[in-house]
Amino acid sequence: MMSFTTKRAPVVDEARERDPVATAEWDRARRAEVQYSIQLRKIARHVADIIKGLGVDSPEAAEAVAEALRRYERLLHPWAKTAARRMVTEVAARNDKLWRKVSAEMGRSIKTTFAEEHGIGERYRQLMAEQVNLITSIPREAAERVHHLVTQGVVKGVRFTEIAKEIERGGEVSKSRATLIARTETGRVVTALCQARAESLGSTGYTWRTMKDAQVRPSHKAMEGRFVAWDSPPTLDKLTGHAGSVPACRCYCEPSLPKNF
Ligand SMILES: [Zn+2]
Repeated sequence: MMSFTTKRAPVVDEARERDPVATAEWDRARRAEVQYSIQLRKIARHVADIIKGLGVDSPEAAEAVAEALRRYERLLHPWAKTAARRMVTEVAARNDKLWRKVSAEMGRSIKTTFAEEHGIGERYRQLMAEQVNLITSIPREAAERVHHLVTQGVVKGVRFTEIAKEIERGGEVSKSRATLIARTETGRVVTALCQARAESLGSTGYTWRTMKDAQVRPSHKAMEGRFVAWDSPPTLDKLTGHAGSVPACRCYCEPSLPKNF
């Protein structure tokens, strides 16, 4: 009698289909990010206008620019609140939809929206305040940069024409900062709101999910399907954070919930 072994076919990870709901909802978060980025870059343009408009031909003129940027920061607060609210609200709407999906799969329904939940409302307000602080940090940091360049330049004996050249790059620096904030914060808010809701229902962690396409970075691909506790975000490629909360990450959290939530 002949004996033989049957080789098992390897499991092909890529063959799994992308989750259509997650993809659609990610697109929505991406739109929120694009909108937020447009708003924040307006501030960077204004910073550039202030620097160019006043001109920096002397240390005194540079200090006047720094003062004008600080004034702009103070005036920016109400506008920043509106921009922050818009982004967080858009993201919360996405989150509510994902939660409805999760609860439907578990045969339960979640009736309340984010804004209505007491404990979550607190996190919501906290996230908004953090955004206002980040938005207003654009002119604040631009002012600090001008001040720093002047004082350091004087100490080191750098010619003022050289210092002025660096100061004039301020608009560009603010633009990169604006883009980075929009990029990082939208995802961070998505995850923070998901965590807030999950924890309010007794969840201790989630399953890391990726978009399952070729663009997923290797370190995140390795996380697909793994359980992560809310209180211990992993460090991948030197960045610590939950799924979706590090720059340019499209991963998302699939919360684990207790049986009787
Ligand atoms: Zn990712």
